Amino acid sequence: MVCKVDTLLERYALPIHDPAYDSVDEYLVARWTGRDGHNAEGYKPLTEWFNKQVLRRRYDAHGRDVTSVHLDREYELVTGDASAEREELAADLAADGLDIDRLADELVSWSTMRHHLKDCLDATKEPATASTDWQTNTVEMATTQAAEKTRSVLSSLASTGRLPDAEGADVDVQVELRCPDCSASASFQTAVERGYVCETHAEETNRERVSERSAAALFGVFEGSRALLNGPYLADVLAVVGL
Ligand SMILES: [Zn+2]
Ligand SMILES: [Zn+2]
Repeated sequence: MVCKVDTLLERYALPIHDPAYDSVDEYLVARWTGRDGHNAEGYKPLTEWFNKQVLRRRYDAHGRDVTSVHLDREYELVTGDASAEREELAADLAADGLDIDRLADELVSWSTMRHHLKDCLDATKEPATASTDWQTNTVEMATTQAAEKTRSVLSSLASTGRLPDAEGADVDVQVELRCPDCSASASFQTAVERGYVCETHAEETNRERVSERSAAALFGVFEGSRALLNGPYLADVLAVVGL
C-alpha cells in the first residue's frame, strides 16, 4: 500500500539522524509504540515531526536556511489559519521560490499518519501504555458504574409507564471529550489513542494546560429509548476524568 507519507518519503529521501534506525518508518514505529526507550506517542507529535522533516527538505532545496526554532514557528504558520503573520511569511517564502499554500497541501494530516502506521506498516500497539493504564481504568470504571446505575432505574421507569420500553433497552455509556473552542469532539478512547481532543486547538490548550473546561461528558442510552443521567453523577464522572 502506498499513502502520502510513502510518497513524501520517497520524493524527499528523508534522512534519519538516529543511527539506531535504518529508516524513517522504523523510527516512527518505535516512537509510536514506545520501543527502545521512547515514550509511546500519539499521532499528532509524529505527524508534526514528519511534516517538519518535509518542510526542512523543501527549505533546503530552496536554500532557505532557518534555525529549528524558526522552523517550528514557521511550521505553525504554514499549517495555521490565515493571519497577518502568515501573509508576511508567505511573502518571505515566495522570495525563496516557495508557495506557502502548496507547502501546506504537501504536509500530511494525523489521520494519514495513523493510516500509514496501522495499514501501510501494519504496526500495532497496546491501546494503553503502562503510564496511562490507571487513567483509562478509572474512566472505564466510571462508565461501567454509570451504565449499572442507569440499568437499575430502567425497570421502574417501565413499570410506572414513563418509559414503557425502557426495560429491554441496551445501555451504552460513552465519555466524550469536547473542545471548548469549537465543535470538535472525540470519544475518550480515541482522544487518548491519538493524543488530542481537537486537532485545531490542541496546541493552544497544551500551552494553557488542559483545564476542566476542556472536558465534557456525554452519556447516552440507546436502542429505542433515551434517558439522561442526573447532574451530580455527571459531575462525578467529570471529576474522575480529571482533565
Ligand atoms: Zn503509508
Ligand atoms: Zn477546537
